[in-house]
Amino acid sequence: MKELQERNIQLAQALEKSNAASQAKTDFLGKMSHELRTPLNAIIGFSDLSLLESFGKLPDRYKEYFGDIRKAADHLLTIINDILDAVNLDAGKAKIQLEKIKLKPLVEEVLPLVEAEARSRGVDIAAVTVDDGWAVKADRGRLRQILINLVVNALKFTEQGGSVGIETGTGDDGTVLLTVWDTGIGISHEQQGLIFDGFHQVQADPVIAPTEGTGLGLTISQQLARLMGGDLRVESELEKGSRFTIILPATAKKQKKKRRARKPVRKSA
Ligand code: ADP
Repeated sequence: MKELQERNIQLAQALEKSNAASQAKTDFLGKMSHELRTPLNAIIGFSDLSLLESFGKLPDRYKEYFGDIRKAADHLLTIINDILDAVNLDAGKAKIQLEKIKLKPLVEEVLPLVEAEARSRGVDIAAVTVDDGWAVKADRGRLRQILINLVVNALKFTEQGGSVGIETGTGDDGTVLLTVWDTGIGISHEQQGLIFDGFHQVQADPVIAPTEGTGLGLTISQQLARLMGGDLRVESELEKGSRFTIILPATAKKQKKKRRARKPVRKSA
């Protein structure tokens, strides 16, 4: 009996230590990300100013360098924002404001942000569209963030000549299913269980799919979907493509229309 009590005390102490370590990590990441943003904003601001050439024309080489600085700073800002987001979500600090969101206008808002990327990659995004009549209960900014993340990923992991699209549907329990599909490189069954873990990236072909991100996008997206009372799931088959489905509560009104697009992959498990 005494032995058991001692063991319990040891376990409680170990748990307390581990919670404190996890809290210290969260605090450190949060503070560090915040501190990094201030100088980074100066880098972005001054490169933008220089690119405007308000104080005189720059030699082409310098203009090119300022453009490179700007792109790298943008990339760094995305990473820092992702870390801050993940830390806040972990700490339960993320704020969500649920309202009725019509999906067609939301997708139309996202489309221009990915059009240039799709064109330069030679990926067809004609199916990135949603019919009228679909609506969900969600946080507008956060749903937009998830959608951008999924479409950008779909483009990133799809070779030239492939396609990316959106499909809507109704779940068994009346939820709305918003699927971003692609005909890209796909994800093995084993990896499908890991990609929602923070910082996890599949070590795929470095040419077709360079791992340039943070590995945080899907973790953040899934946590956000869950905060909104939904979820984010994946179905995928290697070399056939992937389907990432955001599951969200429908608004009170019943969905009228149902649209099914081409199915690039068969359901896996
Ligand atoms: P990031 O895109 O920054 O690497 P994510 O969390 O968004 O981070 O994605 C994690 C990993 O999941 C990616 O690095 C990639 O290996 C894999 N992945 C995500 N989306 C797709 C997709 N549509 N097709 C193939 N692999 C994907």
